[in-house]
Amino acid sequence: MDEHDGGPEDPASLPGTPDGFERLWTPHRLAYITGEDKPADDGAGECPFCRAQDRRDEDGLVVARGERAFAVLNLYPYNPGHLMVLPYRHVADYTDLDLAETHEIAALTRTAMRVLRAISAPHGFNIGLNQGAVAGAGMAAHLHQHVVPRWGGDANFLPIIGRTKALPELLGDTRARLAAAWPDAAAVSLPEETC
Ligand SMILES: [Zn+2]
Repeated sequence: MDEHDGGPEDPASLPGTPDGFERLWTPHRLAYITGEDKPADDGAGECPFCRAQDRRDEDGLVVARGERAFAVLNLYPYNPGHLMVLPYRHVADYTDLDLAETHEIAALTRTAMRVLRAISAPHGFNIGLNQGAVAGAGMAAHLHQHVVPRWGGDANFLPIIGRTKALPELLGDTRARLAAAWPDAAAVSLPEETC
C-alpha cells in the first residue's frame, strides 16, 4: 500500500502549531459551510452585511461608520465585543479593495482595538480575514475582517457565549457601549504621509 493513502500519519510530520485547545469536529456544520443553508443568490441583495449598512445602527448592530467602511458586531461572537470591519461595497477578496478602502479598514481596525481596550481591557486580540469558505468564511461573498478580543482562559466560556439566548440583548448593550466610546472620524484617519 502507498504510504500516502490518506490515512493517519505521524502528527509530527504534518503542518500545525499545537495551541492547547481541544478540537470538536463538527461535520454537521459542513452543510452551512457549503452553502446549503444560504440564499441561492450570493449577491448583495441577500447579503446580511449589505443589509446591515442600510439599517439603523441599533438594528444592524453597526458600531461605527466611516466613508468607505464600517464596523459591525458579529451576531455569532467568539467573545464579547467580537466585531468585524468591512467595506460598504459587496466585494469578496482582499485584492478587490481599492487603496482608500484598504486604508480605512486598517484605520477602523486599529480604532476598534483601542476602543475595546478602553472598555473591556482584553489581554490580546485575534485579527484576520478568512478568504473563501474553505478558509472558514461563513459569508465569503462580502469581505469582513474579524476583530476578536481575547482574555486569558476565555476559551472556557465559549460554549456558553455561543449558546445563550440572551445574546441579542447583550449585543445591543455591547454595540451601545462601543459606539459611545468610538472617537470622531477625524481622530482615527490615517495621516496622509502613511497612505
Ligand atoms: Zn454584501
